[in-house]
Amino acid sequence: MIFLFLFIVVLNPVRTLNVHLICHSHDDVGWLSTVDQYYTEQVQYIIDSVISALEANPERKFIYVEQAFFQRWWRSQSDERKNITRRLVASGQLEFVNGGWSMHDEATTHFIDMIDQTTLGHRFLLDEFGVVPRTGWQIDPFGHSATQAALLTSEVGFAGLFFARIDVADNAIRRQNKALEFLWQPSASFGASARVFAGAFASGSYGPPPGLCWDINCWLDTAHPIQDDPTLEDYNVPERIETAVRTAKDLASLHLGDDIMFTLGNDFEYRAANEWFKNLDKLIRLVNADGRIKMFYSTPTQYLQSKLQSGVSWPVKTDDFFPYADGPHSYWTGFYTSRPALKHYIRLNSALLQVARQTEVWAKCNGNGTMLLWDAIATAQHHDAITGTELQPVAFDYALRIARGAAQAANTIHTALAQIITQPGGLHPSFTYCPLSNVSICPSSQAFNFNTSLLVILIYNPIARNRSELIHLPVSSLTHCHIRSSTGFIPVQITPVMVTSAINVSLAAPYRCSFLARDIPPIGYDTYWLTNQSTATTLSNPTPIKSTSEVISITNEFWNLQFNTSTGLLFAATHIPSNKTIDISQEFLYYPSSDDGNPYVFRPLEQIPRPISSYARLEVVSGLLYAEVRQYITEWISSSVRLTRNSSVIEFDYTVGPIPIADSLGKEIITRFNTSIRNQGVFFTDSNGREFQRRQRDYRPTWNYTVTEPVSGNYYPMTTAVRIEDDEMSFAVLTDRPQGVSSMTDGSIEICLHRRTLKGPMPLNETGDDGRGLVITGRHYILLNPLQSQSDAIRSVQSQVYASSFVSLAPMETTIDDYVATHSTRDTYLKAPLPDNIDLITFTIYNKSESTLLIRLAHLFAANDQSSLAQPVTIDITQLFKLDLTSIKEVSLTANQPIENVRKIQWQLKNMTDNIDDSTQRSVFNGTFITITPMQIRTFIIVLQ
Ligand SMILES: [Zn+2]
Repeated sequence: MIFLFLFIVVLNPVRTLNVHLICHSHDDVGWLSTVDQYYTEQVQYIIDSVISALEANPERKFIYVEQAFFQRWWRSQSDERKNITRRLVASGQLEFVNGGWSMHDEATTHFIDMIDQTTLGHRFLLDEFGVVPRTGWQIDPFGHSATQAALLTSEVGFAGLFFARIDVADNAIRRQNKALEFLWQPSASFGASARVFAGAFASGSYGPPPGLCWDINCWLDTAHPIQDDPTLEDYNVPERIETAVRTAKDLASLHLGDDIMFTLGNDFEYRAANEWFKNLDKLIRLVNADGRIKMFYSTPTQYLQSKLQSGVSWPVKTDDFFPYADGPHSYWTGFYTSRPALKHYIRLNSALLQVARQTEVWAKCNGNGTMLLWDAIATAQHHDAITGTELQPVAFDYALRIARGAAQAANTIHTALAQIITQPGGLHPSFTYCPLSNVSICPSSQAFNFNTSLLVILIYNPIARNRSELIHLPVSSLTHCHIRSSTGFIPVQITPVMVTSAINVSLAAPYRCSFLARDIPPIGYDTYWLTNQSTATTLSNPTPIKSTSEVISITNEFWNLQFNTSTGLLFAATHIPSNKTIDISQEFLYYPSSDDGNPYVFRPLEQIPRPISSYARLEVVSGLLYAEVRQYITEWISSSVRLTRNSSVIEFDYTVGPIPIADSLGKEIITRFNTSIRNQGVFFTDSNGREFQRRQRDYRPTWNYTVTEPVSGNYYPMTTAVRIEDDEMSFAVLTDRPQGVSSMTDGSIEICLHRRTLKGPMPLNETGDDGRGLVITGRHYILLNPLQSQSDAIRSVQSQVYASSFVSLAPMETTIDDYVATHSTRDTYLKAPLPDNIDLITFTIYNKSESTLLIRLAHLFAANDQSSLAQPVTIDITQLFKLDLTSIKEVSLTANQPIENVRKIQWQLKNMTDNIDDSTQRSVFNGTFITITPMQIRTFIIVLQ
């Protein structure tokens, strides 16, 4: 034994444990208070106080994250204070980590929003400080996504990222195996080129180690100030040194290498920064004098540098960190669905922002007309915003900010469109839009009557490919549905609106006038008119269906859907081209919530969901353009299943709410699709709208999973899509908002639609407009295809669901002929549509004074998607837009540095050789042609003439 001991000592003669002290404050961009309340009541004092404390001692360091707060503080500072702050940033005393507008959630956020909100923060830092953040710091989000590592870490040029919340069982095993720090390679498409260093905090939290907290918030219970004056009572230097050394050694025993970090700070701490720093100054001096360990102020970037230099070989992980559990009965899978209306509102307005930006470019605006919405959408990505885990007044505040931003953006779109289309001598149309058309409210189309000459319907397509889309206008009378295109009257379908719990009959239009807008040009528009000139139209009245033993069906070119009239449920679908019939049913059920359910946690009281109704009353609508079966299930749940002419996509609209609570039970409302697909417990969910992740019931890829919560432990986030498959067929559900999803029995997909929990300190009880409970309406898009063609279908519909067409309406006292003579009715901003596998996800003014645009091109397919489109594609970027370009340069994902500066770090791998696959490397942009590989997003700044 003695021999062995000596041997180790001789081998490691000078090994010292380095303790990096990371001083930070976790400032939520809204949660229990609104973002402005937090700023006014706490954050302004935190930053004030930290700046003074850093100024007092050049050794001290601090990191800061949320630019939503920092820019509020910055704009109220004097020049002198700004200069001091600039010096602190330049010297490295104040380092920005992450640097996004907020610390975004990773489960429910769409990748376009993640990129946008990070870009907004990074732009502020570049403009004001010339700074490019180097490290990811996602310490509070409730689980971590593949997209976060692949795009928002690797592709923005971060060397690594740190977080706290991983499954408690995963944490325990990683502690045992010294695998809390590892290399994360989460993208099959990017391979080793998106491999990043990741560190999960051993404690599972981002707060300070026990006994080492010196904030005013921890003063009374846990803080023990260092009393180093021996002439006073309670001198405690030996004990304080012992605590620090013991804590460091304990933590070091869980890590590889000689560097560890103490995260010193917590939620809204450092309001009195001097208390922290005064004690830390003393601790550093005393501990270093003691000599057993070395302690110093540091930052996560400096820590990463030490890890890189350590020579340690790191284990590799390829899956993601969902779901997150902090105890055997505490799976944080409720927030995937919590506040479904807010989640949808964020998604809709994110798409509106893209439309507004495109029209700003086209109309040569200054870019100011979208800033309010950019700020609001960026703020709403925060991990207590889109997640639904904030208090109700805070949720209202996010919605208010988005509403203000959307009003400004819509105004921008309408001013820009009027300018784009109006030719000399023409009148500028006064456009409006109808955000409430999903509940049949649209003042402009409802006001249309025989005294109005014309309602101009301008449909804008923000996708870089032609699209055809069924447009629905709420109208007041069945005689007001005569639609003309530039070639003449077109077929319409007028249908009475389905009266659900979401419809306010005193405000809602009673009819829906529908028409097919064909081939709307890419990044372009087309015009239709609602006119008074009448043609023959017939009302597609719903036919009530009696409950009998008979089967009713609706059909189009692709599908025949069969419903059992005695239950009202769908039971089979026949694929007409192949004459194959598939068993498929859909039902609505609920899990009663246990007392532990809350906005974060889904904890059902029972593991088998209860049926909501055994019978649905049916109506069938059949018309020229679409057929639908309307299911009235209860007074608070209804649904319609729709087949549109020439479309293989089956649409399921649902209305849920108010969730009844007379029985004092909280409820988790789900819809379940049952099919004959033999998926053997395996299902796939998208990661933030990008690569699909393989999920398997009752299983975790990296540890032996013990089932403690049979249902909620099997829930995963879907941001846009979920699918199951067997050797032949694939069944996918695409969604208009993020939701929690699982496959609890083979062949089935269940989706949590709406939640209401009543107990505990933080109930999720949205009461809605009238106080009875929130009503939501939503849509699922069902894609049922042979395995080999499913990826093409999913990727195409995924883009279209996010980037919906934008319909603007303007009443005009003129004739169509006069309108056409003085207005452009159809145009595109592209020279040619993009290939089917490339999306233009950003097209915006970057800097008006320098005449620059920011564009991003995204490959839609993953390398492992079964499709001929999952291949690299080369395009000539100079030939995309109808623009006069001076130059194009490629930049990093958040546009804050030239692409050449984004260097991939070569870490050493445990048990693996480092074989970075050349095909995943970024091809060099030659100024004209660019090759984009699967899942790649490439970002460019275009300088205009
Ligand atoms: Zn937080």
